[in-house]
Amino acid sequence: MAIARPVRLKDGAVVGLPRALLYYELYPFWRGLLEALGLRVAVSPATSRQVIEAGTSQAMDEACLPVKSFYGHVLVLRDRVDAVFLPRLVSLSPGTYTCPKMLGLPDMVRQNLRGLPPAIVADFDSRLRRRSLEEGGEDLACRLGRSRRHAREAVSKGLEALRNFRGGLEAGLSFEEAASGAEPGWKTPLKGWKMPVEGRREPVPAGDDLARARPDFRPLRVGLVGHAYNLFDPGVNLGLDRKLALLGCDLVTSEQLSEEEVRTESAARTKEIFWSSGRRILAAVTRFRRRGLVDGLIHVVSFGCGPDSMVGEIAERETRRSSNLPYMALTIDEHTAEAGLLTRVEAFVDMLARRRARPQTPEGAVAAEVTA
Ligand code: SF4
Repeated sequence: MAIARPVRLKDGAVVGLPRALLYYELYPFWRGLLEALGLRVAVSPATSRQVIEAGTSQAMDEACLPVKSFYGHVLVLRDRVDAVFLPRLVSLSPGTYTCPKMLGLPDMVRQNLRGLPPAIVADFDSRLRRRSLEEGGEDLACRLGRSRRHAREAVSKGLEALRNFRGGLEAGLSFEEAASGAEPGWKTPLKGWKMPVEGRREPVPAGDDLARARPDFRPLRVGLVGHAYNLFDPGVNLGLDRKLALLGCDLVTSEQLSEEEVRTESAARTKEIFWSSGRRILAAVTRFRRRGLVDGLIHVVSFGCGPDSMVGEIAERETRRSSNLPYMALTIDEHTAEAGLLTRVEAFVDMLARRRARPQTPEGAVAAEVTA
């Protein structure tokens, strides 16, 4: 691992933040921290086909789509900022790890992309006790030439923004809504997703106009689980959340679980899961299923992702073993076509609607398995 070096940047210098990977989990913290240190933050534009193609052309073949997208975002920022922010996220909470691609991300990016501006590499590693999110932030501030006191103040600003953001997500806001406090003027493409109350209401046939007119009608509810960057980046998931909303579904996501809920569910497992994202996904799958919060589950999986294939296998087996809840793994990469994805999602939602329209029988489980 490279040794983090001092970085000299003038006050007001523009730091480019790639809109990819853990941007979707930690953006408010990074922005709050960097701005409190007197820097300006420029976030790369939304992920587009061009961004993905640019990233794919430079990344190694075996990289997953989110990593290729990260490369593309760095390329967009390359000639437009004074420095680019490349976090190295090893472990965000004790006993957990991110995946090896994130560990090596700053080195891979600097090795593969030419002509980059100075990189601000920040290490976050809670295994070493003094390199948690807080101390990683303080360390970064000191390397930028700020006093220890200034560093602590900046970290606390970042943490406050992060707390607000997490609170928004857990209350059922979309990513844009939860982050809008940190970046005024963001558009909110979707209405807030509300975490449902425990237990199902009376099932009502979907697609039936008379049923829709009934006061107790409720739309189908889909549990969307996966990495935050797969759930929240419409350029990566081809607008999956919008498609489901247009099909009349309510959504609940794995990002709506609090840290406490994730810890509780993880502690109840016989085998420990070390990937932080994997813990959250399995906790969400278990909670949504056990509490009857959803009509079906969609796991958004990155093609070529080792953690996803293992966590997905566990999630699917557990779901099938202990319930007949329909479960679909939706694998995405840069070749995924929007029409193909839409067809699969439509078929899944159609199956959920038909399933709800008839009494629950073992055949319901069979139908779910065949379709998914
Ligand atoms: S966890 Fe999977 S999807 Fe995320 S960066 Fe690692 S390999 Fe890619």
